[in-house]
Amino acid sequence: MSIAIVWFRHDLRLTDHPALEAAVAAGHTVVPVYIDAPEEDAPWSIGAASRWWLHRSLTALADDLARRGSRLIIRRGSTLEQLRDIAASTGATEVHWNRQYEPASLARDTAVKAALRADGLTVDSHCGNVLFEPWTVKSGAGTPFRVFTPFWKHCLTRLSEVPRPTPAPQQLKAPPQWPTTLEIATLKLAPNIPWDSGFVDLWTPGEASALDRLEAFLDQDAGDYREQRDRPDLPATSRLAPALHFGEISPRQILAAAQSAASRASVTETAGIDAFVREIGWREFAIHILFAFPHTTELPLDARFTALPWASDDAILDAWRRGRTGIPLVDAGMRELWHTGWMHNRVRMVVASLLTKNLGQHWLHGARWFYDTLVDADLAANTLGWQWTAGCGADAAPYYRIFNPALQAERFDPDRAYIRRWVPEIAALPNAWIHKPYDAPANVLAASGVVLERDYPRPVLDLTTGRDRALAAYDAVKAARVEPAR
Ligand SMILES: Cc1cc2nc3c(=O)[nH]c(=O)nc-3n(C[C@H](O)[C@H](O)[C@H](O)COP(=O)(O)OP(=O)(O)OC[C@H]3O[C@@H](n4cnc5c(N)ncnc54)[C@H](O)[C@@H]3O)c2cc1C
Repeated sequence: MSIAIVWFRHDLRLTDHPALEAAVAAGHTVVPVYIDAPEEDAPWSIGAASRWWLHRSLTALADDLARRGSRLIIRRGSTLEQLRDIAASTGATEVHWNRQYEPASLARDTAVKAALRADGLTVDSHCGNVLFEPWTVKSGAGTPFRVFTPFWKHCLTRLSEVPRPTPAPQQLKAPPQWPTTLEIATLKLAPNIPWDSGFVDLWTPGEASALDRLEAFLDQDAGDYREQRDRPDLPATSRLAPALHFGEISPRQILAAAQSAASRASVTETAGIDAFVREIGWREFAIHILFAFPHTTELPLDARFTALPWASDDAILDAWRRGRTGIPLVDAGMRELWHTGWMHNRVRMVVASLLTKNLGQHWLHGARWFYDTLVDADLAANTLGWQWTAGCGADAAPYYRIFNPALQAERFDPDRAYIRRWVPEIAALPNAWIHKPYDAPANVLAASGVVLERDYPRPVLDLTTGRDRALAAYDAVKAARVEPAR
């Protein structure tokens, strides 16, 4: 009997899993393994909200494997040492995994592959988490794309190359003797203190739930996605980001399901489905950018912006993190994030713009907070999102585009339902003032029973002054002539 280790990472599923499929197709008995080694991802080790998700996702995967006669072996510690130990105790001759593209993962995986091969094992990595391998997508000049639209245009011409997703194996052979394993609980991923009730209400991690979510979204919401995706008051987006990050579902499965839904849909619905697939394109773009420019996790892609005079003010950062800035749309978003581990994309842009532009705080403060508190925290998407909003990254929003939270609320939260939900202390204010309570006339405040400063904080800054300061700083660095960083 030949034995192969399949090392699960950000691919916690059994369907469309090329590494598992390769091991099964070769006739091996599979030993599925997950290794908890957060220090190997430093300085971007997994955050608290993601650990919450991971605990449940691993539990779901272990159950799915058990139903197929297999087992998920859980280990902690150095990946290389654990894989060596499992290979020695089972007599495994092969190791398979699906590739990841974060800088620390690439460095670790390269070293692990070389070391295991030197031990005499056969080691194969597979393409399971992207539509296209990052090194295969190049501009006409042979360089990585730095702008989304031409990138996605190029990808669209190659969609027929994307392999169809493959089904999960029905049954898996068990080895004569399983290697030792830890209980998932011993990884201490789940919180000791129960801060997670908002998470429990909203999310069910695991492959089955991801598939249900995709199906429900394509059936009910995708047709309206183009018109409604910017509305934080509506459940109009897929909320598949955490499932995609942990690989409970693959982008190929999403593409195939979306194509099949589009073939049955009306023209208007097809436009919604296409807009959704384009967002999967943004995920792809983020991964490709991080692969080509790994330094962007800490440094701006556009090197001129390294010279920006970023501030670092603890009181401001604290108010922003706790949703106490005195700017209702921003506070609503930051509280949604804290309670649910997720924030609507439109609001992510607004809170990030306020922090980096109006408040002048370094985008890395925001990126680190998001990384710790989002259930979908993803190094590629988060880095791209923060640099895009701060105006210093790939395909960046022009630096002079500074979101005005009150106008954004008028446009995208037309009934102010989102603000009322998350900032209930000012809920009694009428629609005309709830998103800018400090401009409200005294008689309106009195009639609503809202006492500012007692019930709700004064804004941490005057938006106009912050905006002018940001524009002056950006103008100054923009004049600098520096070659873009590589
Ligand atoms: C400052 C900032 C930080 C962000 N941090 C993250 C992050 O850590 N992880 C993350 O997955 N997304 C991040 N995003 C992108 C986006 O906000 C989320 O992907 C989206 O809100 C997730 O909700 P959804 O699954 O309902 O998305 P949908 O609208 O249903 O989109 C479908 C999928 O497309 C992908 N996607 C959509 N928009 C983007 C985007 N702009 N960039 C990359 N992929 C995208 C996601 O995988 C998403 O699940 C960030 C955006 C900003 C502005």
